[in-house]
Amino acid sequence: MTRPVPLPSSLSRPFWEAARRGELVLPRCSACGLRFFTPEPACPHCWSGTWTYERSAGRGTVYSVTAVHRAPGPGFEAPYALAVIELDEGVTMLSHVVGLPADEVTIGMRVAVHFQPLTDDITLPCFSPDRAEASA
Ligand SMILES: [Zn+2]
Repeated sequence: MTRPVPLPSSLSRPFWEAARRGELVLPRCSACGLRFFTPEPACPHCWSGTWTYERSAGRGTVYSVTAVHRAPGPGFEAPYALAVIELDEGVTMLSHVVGLPADEVTIGMRVAVHFQPLTDDITLPCFSPDRAEASA
């Protein structure tokens, strides 16, 4: 049995299509210029209904993290790190940190987006330690 996969809505479909191409995109308000996540009918800063998706650099910092030891359902491989990532563009995203043991993910760790295909249609943006930055 496989894990449940996200079901794209009319609002989130461009986000999932971008993820499939290996791009992370975020809504950016056309009226006030601020970015937000998750996609909403109106900008949460100024309530304008006019916004578009713009590409994110996909880099950020672990804001909070928990190691999940009990899988929430079939198809999940525990333990895994569930984290709130604060992207450099200023928005937060709930995601997974992969590429190292779950209990080694720490608050403040620099991470970069990484794409994990789940099905033919859905690719999940997750994060891994930002090696480019660590070696710079
Ligand atoms: Zn706005």
